[in-house]
Amino acid sequence: MGREARSWVIPALVAAVLAGQGIALLEPGQRPNIMGLTILVLDVIGFGAALRAARRGDTALWRMIAIGRLCSLLTSLVLAAAGITGNDVMWWVGLSLRLVSFVFVAAAVLFTPGRRLSARGRLAYLSETITVVAGGFMVVWYFAIDPVIQQSSPGLVWIREVGYPLGDLLMLLAVAVSLLRGAASRAAGPMALLIAGMGIYLAGDVFWSGVQMREQQMLVTSPVAGALLAVGSLLMTLAPMRVRGPEPRPGRDARSELRWSTHLPVTAMVISGTLIAAVTVAEHDLLPWGGLVLGLITMNAAITTRQVISLRESRDQIVTDPLTALANRTGLFEAITRESRQSAGLLLIDLDGFKPINDAYGHAAGDTVLVEFAHLLRSSVRTEDVVARLGGDEFVALLPGVDDAERAGGVAQRILTTLLARPVQLGDDTVPIRASIGLTISTPGETAKDLLRRADLAMYQIKRAGTHGWIAYDPSMADRRAEDAALSDDLSKALARNELQVLFQPIVELPEGLPKATEALVRWNHPVHGTVSPVRFIPLAERSGAIHDIGLFVLERACEQLREWPSLYMSVNLSPRQLQRPTLVLDVLAVLQRTGIEATRLVLEVTESAIVDQSAIDVLTALRSHGIRIAVDDFGTGYSSLQYLTRLPVDVLKIDRSFVARLDGTPEGSAIVEAVLRLSEVLHLATVAEGIETAEQAAELYQLGCTSGQGYLYSRPRTAQELNVNMPALNVMPDR
Ligand code: C2E
Ligand code: MG
Ligand code: MG
Repeated sequence: MGREARSWVIPALVAAVLAGQGIALLEPGQRPNIMGLTILVLDVIGFGAALRAARRGDTALWRMIAIGRLCSLLTSLVLAAAGITGNDVMWWVGLSLRLVSFVFVAAAVLFTPGRRLSARGRLAYLSETITVVAGGFMVVWYFAIDPVIQQSSPGLVWIREVGYPLGDLLMLLAVAVSLLRGAASRAAGPMALLIAGMGIYLAGDVFWSGVQMREQQMLVTSPVAGALLAVGSLLMTLAPMRVRGPEPRPGRDARSELRWSTHLPVTAMVISGTLIAAVTVAEHDLLPWGGLVLGLITMNAAITTRQVISLRESRDQIVTDPLTALANRTGLFEAITRESRQSAGLLLIDLDGFKPINDAYGHAAGDTVLVEFAHLLRSSVRTEDVVARLGGDEFVALLPGVDDAERAGGVAQRILTTLLARPVQLGDDTVPIRASIGLTISTPGETAKDLLRRADLAMYQIKRAGTHGWIAYDPSMADRRAEDAALSDDLSKALARNELQVLFQPIVELPEGLPKATEALVRWNHPVHGTVSPVRFIPLAERSGAIHDIGLFVLERACEQLREWPSLYMSVNLSPRQLQRPTLVLDVLAVLQRTGIEATRLVLEVTESAIVDQSAIDVLTALRSHGIRIAVDDFGTGYSSLQYLTRLPVDVLKIDRSFVARLDGTPEGSAIVEAVLRLSEVLHLATVAEGIETAEQAAELYQLGCTSGQGYLYSRPRTAQELNVNMPALNVMPDR
């Protein structure tokens, strides 16, 4: 049967069964015939479908179901024959066959593998199954078994009256086991249909026995029992028709522990408790049983409640990050799946420079930072948003319903701005915390993994830019990790292979343009990629630690060169990571000694971000105590508050070139440069303007009171030889 054929077979079958039930409702006289015919036809179709399913999917399961259906089919035929011939033996054979059919159907489901369980999990699952089956047993006992025992003497009739209820119990066991073990992993999959069918059939069967015994009425006259049996049988017939391949085996993950089926034991407790209470009242057994039953039910209710609470607690533990009380990875994945019907914004937030803080202040301080950030994050988003910590210093905010990057970006910006305004107090220090955020928008139905992968790509992109900002994922973003890793690997060998070169850019006096210093700027002549900019490889060197050796190499090269330029001083860049090495001061002094350069002729440039903590300040103070001057590079682009600046051991502010580029003769254009100049005047600091490209900029700077600068206007960074040729003033300058 092809796909096209199947598309009408199922609706036709459903329609036929429902039509039959409709007639049965209107025509009580026809109920026995309709009932018999429905079950017979469904058994025939079910048998065929199960055989076919055995070839496509789980062979053992569907074969056993096929045998079960065959037995049921034979039951109908044998019973019909018994009815016609009046043969007693045939009648008993028929009844026994039905029991055998129960056994096969139940066994088929019982032996289907569910999720794997640990030893403790198995015990828990066993006790849950016992609870459910015991509840069922109470119902069956009261409605079916007890009346039989009380009303008829032992004999063959017990096969029917006691055997059937026991068969029902076996079915119940099978249904309970498969639900509790999560064997039906897909909601409308074949396994789920089969189990639902068995459950409904079971209900019909118990109802039938109940009606028959209590009311002394024939089953066939009860439309409810008939309908339940028909629908149950129908679902069990549809199930194998939907088999396309083996049922996926549920995993061992925590999520399957949290299914609704965990409520099954609780439901069984409630049903059995209600039954006992009702029976005690109905049978006028209040004395002496009333009090005892009440006590037992109350106890049961209390234990069940406790049970539910533990369930919730352990669930919470599974989905919550204990440190910050935000969701953890599992909780986030659940939330993403839960919200996957609509689009959502996802921000992946990584704290910048968290590791140095952790190293410098200790793990307790690190935890404080994480907890404070968690609070800040929670209060920066809506209540319906989900915030999670994935581990380490990586956080996520899931914004359901936020379907454009701009809105999500607004949230990201708000988080960054709030962060900026709230430095964390660690001991005596106020430590600014910063972050990089990558964001992406989900499409409905998308998996958590894909979503996080995109956000992670974006995050890495912004992280390596080092701007502490946010960026939205864009399909053109390549995963640079592999490339970075390869380059970083090459970089570790670059020094030994002599691939690094130091260029020098003059720092001149305004307005004449006479050189008074040079800044040493490193270049990497990569054998394959050509010249690599320090903007590209210094961050890699920072991350790998290669920066320590590279930094000292540049310093040594610069100081050697300085011997040729006796009238100048030398500016050398120092990266944040270098400040963390305890031997830095000794290393620098050793280079000065080896090259015979006085400490006062050396300026070390650090960026604001390098001076985040006390230990960095201590290192700068030590360097200064030996006469080395300290410059703040790219001043104005960092986050440091001006008040902070007054405490810092610095001598020079280098005005970032972005502010110089804004100079256009207007008060707005010069506002920041003026402010920096005024500030350095008050703090007795020197200033150097960076990135002077035009004569107009130079003139305006001079007019504003700035007397030194560097930029392409005077010279690009060049080799020492080139500079000697192009800037004779370097050599002829008299001693200052
Ligand atoms: P920086 O210390 O702010 O250096 C100034 C940068 O501005 C240099 O870029 C220089 O070439 C560029 N520049 C100079 N004048 C102009 C101008 O008029 N217009 C424009 N648009 N740019 C100008 P470079 O050499 O690519 O270096 C970039 C950054 O890499 C440096 O910024 C510095 O932070 C870092 N760096 C360079 N060498 C070293 C080093 O040896 N150690 C460390 N730690 N960092 C270094
Ligand atoms: Mg610099
Ligand atoms: Mg700079």
